[in-house]
Amino acid sequence: MQKHELISLANEMCKELVTIIDNQEHASKEQLANYLFESAELVMNLKEKDISSTDFAETLFHNVYRELTKKSLSSYTDTNNKIEILAQVHEDTLLECDEDNLDLPLLKSKFHEIQDAMAVEVKKANETIKYLHEQVKTLEKNSNLDGLTKVYNRRALSTYLTEVCSKEKLPNDLHALILDIDDFKKVNDTHGHLAGDKVLIFIANILRKTLRDGDRVFRYGGEEFVIILNRLDDMQCKNITNRIIGLIRNNKLVYKGVSLSVTMSIGATKFISGDTPDSLIYRADKALYKAKENGKDQMYVDLTNGI
Ligand code: GH3
Ligand code: MG
Ligand code: MG
Repeated sequence: MQKHELISLANEMCKELVTIIDNQEHASKEQLANYLFESAELVMNLKEKDISSTDFAETLFHNVYRELTKKSLSSYTDTNNKIEILAQVHEDTLLECDEDNLDLPLLKSKFHEIQDAMAVEVKKANETIKYLHEQVKTLEKNSNLDGLTKVYNRRALSTYLTEVCSKEKLPNDLHALILDIDDFKKVNDTHGHLAGDKVLIFIANILRKTLRDGDRVFRYGGEEFVIILNRLDDMQCKNITNRIIGLIRNNKLVYKGVSLSVTMSIGATKFISGDTPDSLIYRADKALYKAKENGKDQMYVDLTNGI
C-alpha cells in the first residue's frame, strides 16, 4: 500500500465514521466500538513494508478516534442532559402524582377543614349582617320615635302625611286630630319639669292603648300630639275623640305621692282630596284653637270638611 492509498483509506474511514455519527444522532457505544475495532484490525493487518508512513496513519487514526470520542462524548453529554431534564420532569411529575395520590385523604380533610372554616366564617358574616340589619331597623325606627314618649315623632308624621297626601283619593276616610294639654305650663311650674315629663309619658301611653292598629299617634311638639285615624266614619271619629278627652280627664298620675291630672283640647278635621300635610294640619290646628277658645277640655271639629 502506498502512502497516498493509506491516506485515502484513513480519509474514507474518517468520513464513514462522521456519516455514521451524523446519521445516528445517538450512535450507541457498542456500534462505535465495533466500527473502531474493525478499523483497527484493518490497520493492524497492513504489512509494515506496505506502509510508507505508519506514523502518519497512526496519527490520522488517533485524530479520527479523538474526533469520534469527542462527538460521542458530546452526544452522551446531550443525552445525559436531556435525561437529566426528563428525570427532573419525571421526578416532578412523580412528586405531583404522589401528592395527588398519596396525600388525597389529607387533601380531602384539608379541603373539608377549609370548607368548615369557610362555613363558620360565612355564618359569622351572616350573623353580623343580621345584627347590623336589626341595628339599622332599630335606628330607623328610633329615628321615627319621640325619645321621651316613644310615640312617633314629627318627622314620622311628615313622612306619613306626605305619603297620604301624594294619593289623589284615599280608599277610606282619614281623620287628623291635634291634641294639646291644657294649662300644661302650670303643671311644670307647680310640680317641676320632671313631673311634666311623666305626664307627657302617661298621656302618650293612654293614647297608644286607646287607638287601634291602623291608627297612629305622633308627638307633634312640646305638649301637643297628633292622631291619625283611619277607616272611621265621622261619627266614630267623634266618639273616639270624646273618649280620649274623657280618659285623660279621668285618669290620674301619681308622681312622688302627688296626684297629677290634666285635661286636653282636641281639634279634628278630615282629609279632603288635594290636601297637603300643611293644609290638613292647619285645619286641625284652627279647630284646636276653637276648642281652646270654647273653654278647653273639649273637642272642636271642622264642620266645613265633613265632620
Ligand atoms: P294652653 O292650655 O293654652 O295650651 O296652655 P299651656 O300652658 O299648655 O300652653 P303653653 O304654650 O303656654 O305652655 C306649654 C308648656 O309646655 C310650656 C313648656 O314648658 C311645656 N313643655 C313643652 N314641652 C315639654 C316637655 O317636653 N316636657 C315638659 N315637662 N314640659 C314641656
Ligand atoms: Mg301647646
Ligand atoms: Mg297646652
